[in-house]
Amino acid sequence: MKKIIEIDLSPYESAENNDLKYLVSKKIHIPINSISGVRLLKRSIDSRKKNIIIHHTFEIYIDENPPDKKQYDFTYGNVSDRDHVIIVGAGPSGLFAALRLIELGIKPVIIERGKKIEDRKFDIAAINRQRIINSNSNYCFGEGGAGAYSDGKLYTRSTKRGNVNRILHILHEHGAAQDILVDSHPHIGTDKLPGLITEIRKTILSSGGEFHFNSQVTDIIICNGQAKGVITKDGNKFEGKALILATGHSARDIYEILRAKNILIESKQFAVGVRIEHPQQLIDSIQYHGQTGNAYLPAANYSLTYQAGGKGVFSFCMCPGGNIVTASTAPEELVLNGMSNSQRNQPFANSGMVVAVDEKDFIEYSESGPLVGLRFRGALEKAAFLAGGSDLTAPAQRMVDFVEKKISGDLNKTSYFPGIISCPLHEFLPSFIVSRLQEAFVVFGKKMKGYLTNEANLLGVETRTSSPVRIPRDFNTLEHPHIAGLYPCGEGAGYAGGIVSSAIDGERCAECSAKKILA
Ligand SMILES: Cc1cc2nc3c(=O)[nH]c(=O)nc-3n(C[C@H](O)[C@H](O)[C@H](O)COP(=O)(O)OP(=O)(O)OC[C@H]3O[C@@H](n4cnc5c(N)ncnc54)[C@H](O)[C@@H]3O)c2cc1C
Repeated sequence: MKKIIEIDLSPYESAENNDLKYLVSKKIHIPINSISGVRLLKRSIDSRKKNIIIHHTFEIYIDENPPDKKQYDFTYGNVSDRDHVIIVGAGPSGLFAALRLIELGIKPVIIERGKKIEDRKFDIAAINRQRIINSNSNYCFGEGGAGAYSDGKLYTRSTKRGNVNRILHILHEHGAAQDILVDSHPHIGTDKLPGLITEIRKTILSSGGEFHFNSQVTDIIICNGQAKGVITKDGNKFEGKALILATGHSARDIYEILRAKNILIESKQFAVGVRIEHPQQLIDSIQYHGQTGNAYLPAANYSLTYQAGGKGVFSFCMCPGGNIVTASTAPEELVLNGMSNSQRNQPFANSGMVVAVDEKDFIEYSESGPLVGLRFRGALEKAAFLAGGSDLTAPAQRMVDFVEKKISGDLNKTSYFPGIISCPLHEFLPSFIVSRLQEAFVVFGKKMKGYLTNEANLLGVETRTSSPVRIPRDFNTLEHPHIAGLYPCGEGAGYAGGIVSSAIDGERCAECSAKKILA
């Protein structure tokens, strides 16, 4: 007999109980000998009450052997002599598109402007140590895309768009810990992601797929309304039966190419603001009812939302026990984001704190047209770079000082490696963003007592929450409405936000392109 049971354990019991059969037999009063198998299906923390519990869902087998069948069986056959699909971008959407194409019997040819993950780390070090941004190799560009040196949170709300479980199993097959299959908020960590990305590359190469690194796409080949391929900066031409454009939201040049070729693109809502950083201990204390330093509880997180003046204000990409990093993709711009390692054991908790913006908000700052948001974003990033002293130092202000419009005489310690400098962000940011953030911070301080504090710094600016441009596509075929065989894909096209939703979108584009090619 198979049974699903739910068991609540203390954080200590959950961490220390390795003998699941014994645990289950004790909790549901069944002799241990009759339990033939136990499988943990889901695990989540419930910290709403002082007595924090870890909720577990188990599948148990009583007097019946559990099946040894895997939930998913991924088969990556040899596709070296099959039809080609060109994929631009080796971020999560591009890599998952490639894996899915292989499963469907099509050869993926991946064109990536950046370097292999192993080589990328030297450019990441140069950002932090020498304050140099390589515009083809940085926190956003290179193998693994923006997902490579990220936090590696795998939680997504896009469950309706595709099979999240499938994506998690593929990540697990390529080296991610089993925990991601059961945790309600799965997380990998920056220290583990590069190994996993290398394994995905090995799968693609060993099946006959191709990677072309250091190959920035500078033109798209279109003949008679049909996407044929791309041309790279060094003059190489790559052609295929379809073109999946998975270049992420930082690839300004791609939007410019599309605009110059009169290919339909649209301006889209996104969100901008600051990155906020608290001591992790403070967040633990708020979320865990005064408990700090409990080795059996993970660094606490939070998620905050508020409507101010008809606009959403929300926390974004919260990184418990993490670091703030420079997500700039060109010299003379400053963009921040956050990441954490698998242990989440740094003393800081950071999160984006952003306000939704659309064309109506920023029209006064820039030109109109589909690239208006991109220009607005660029202007803010450039201003932040200058405000920080033009060396990637981030302009910063204490949180209460920001709300009370006071200049911070000094600042809290920060995880941000290039450093911070006091700046009146309440004067620096556009006023419609400032007023909404100020209103929201007061409300957040009531929702989470102690959150509104001068022990927190705000750092500017957080601008790359999602794409400011949408590349339209047909709802069913996912092809661009005017260019056959062009599949706008992932976050940069405006159809995903985050690692898992981008991976799901990559799979969907692969399936649609394969369906047409194999028809
Ligand atoms: C620091 C940081 C932390 C993050 N943390 C998380 C997290 O914890 N969880 C989460 O879900 N999301 C996180 N994100 C967001 C997540 O990484 C993105 O949503 C995701 O990577 C988008 O995937 P994508 O494949 O659509 O685009 P990208 O990952 O942006 O990949 C696009 C790729 O295209 C390449 N490219 C661009 N232009 C060209 C060109 N002209 N020619 C050739 N190649 C080109 C780029 O080099 C890049 O490799 C984080 C992002 C950052 C920067």
